[in-house]
Amino acid sequence: MGGMAVQGDGSSVIQGDGSSVIQGNGSSVSFLYKTSDTREPSPCITRTNLEEVPDGVSLRIAGVIGESIVDGPGIRFTIFTQGCKHHCPGCHNPQTHDFNGGKLVSMESVLEQVRKNPLLDGITISGGEPFEQAEACSELAKSVHAMKLNVMTYSGYTFEELIAGEADRPGWKELLEETDILVDGRFELARKSLLLKFRGSGNQRLLDVKKSLIRGMAVEANL
Ligand code: SF4
Repeated sequence: MGGMAVQGDGSSVIQGDGSSVIQGNGSSVSFLYKTSDTREPSPCITRTNLEEVPDGVSLRIAGVIGESIVDGPGIRFTIFTQGCKHHCPGCHNPQTHDFNGGKLVSMESVLEQVRKNPLLDGITISGGEPFEQAEACSELAKSVHAMKLNVMTYSGYTFEELIAGEADRPGWKELLEETDILVDGRFELARKSLLLKFRGSGNQRLLDVKKSLIRGMAVEANL
């Protein structure tokens, strides 16, 4: 879903087909930005390269954006996780669905990139489906919180599905607890809108996770 930048919203800036894209690639990770997507990369978005060093905690990612102003409030480091089983019709990130695709990188290499930028307000964990790598993503989010940055997470699962599944899915509870703002729900093509803040379709919600967990119900964030 994830942020597309929102993977979860179906409008993405990562495109793997190579056609009509602005392509930037580094030594280890390639980032392809589709010019026709609803969330085109702004001049403020930079590309960041990560080393493929799958030691310690590792994440399978499709790519990152070093500075994004479209994946949540402020300036954000966005990580697009690789792997999604939702297969929402109209998804703009089909290249993130394959659980064997993308690239395995160490969490530390991601954190290193985040530490380098004092302008960041937070990170956004998008996809793909971040909750398919919930344990690693929760570790990442925990480390980012220790830097006094906030965490926004996209998921094709609804908040209610995540709560219902947390007993059986490793890391779901932890990732929810380490998420400040959750954009939840699958991308629904019929409800697609370009007017929604940080979301792709009208069913998706911007949730204040801490308040939602305390009240035991979805509470909209005030952004
Ligand atoms: S299939 Fe749905 S949840 Fe998965 S990346 Fe695409 S829009 Fe997001």
